[in-house]
Amino acid sequence: MSKSGPIEDLIKKLNKLPGIGSKTAQRLAYHIIDMDDIEVKELASSIVRAKTEIVQCSVCMNFSDSDPCEICSSPNRDGSVICVVEYPKDVEAMERSMSFNGKYHVLHGVVSPMKGKSIDDIKARELLKRLEDGSVKEVIIATNPTADGDTTAMYLKNLLEPYNVTVSRIGYGLPVGGDLEFYDELTISTAMKNRRKLN
Ligand SMILES: [Zn+2]
Repeated sequence: MSKSGPIEDLIKKLNKLPGIGSKTAQRLAYHIIDMDDIEVKELASSIVRAKTEIVQCSVCMNFSDSDPCEICSSPNRDGSVICVVEYPKDVEAMERSMSFNGKYHVLHGVVSPMKGKSIDDIKARELLKRLEDGSVKEVIIATNPTADGDTTAMYLKNLLEPYNVTVSRIGYGLPVGGDLEFYDELTISTAMKNRRKLN
């Protein structure tokens, strides 16, 4: 008998997800097996549906079910300010804090010399393209207050130098080494209000 039966297979796959250790994977697997057939089918089809229906917005690079996304195409959002974040989950954190009414740009990563990630490995050129028509007045860099987040901010600041935009960085009051996604709404909105100019 092979050791990798359906339960072991499910545990192994759940264990590959971020933040899911082997104990949690096991608990989830047994919970799923315990669920009603219909619930399990709905869960499985939600996963497939999210994967097939979600596209990348060609303007801000965020994940969305439409292109351009809802935020990029909204007339109620201020197109003259762009908030640059590392990952789509950071857009969610920003939106939860309700402290920003501009548009976003998602880098999908950070510059990290240690990990061999350069500015060309993130969506930085796509950001520059958005500045060409001159309608953007401010770029707020909201990468995490980590070494990589700070390095990324410096690289972006240099890239943005030739453009006629104010470049600012959130950070004041943010615990160093943290991750935007885990801050509460008040911390994020304070950091946003207290952003400082980089150029
Ligand atoms: Zn968008």
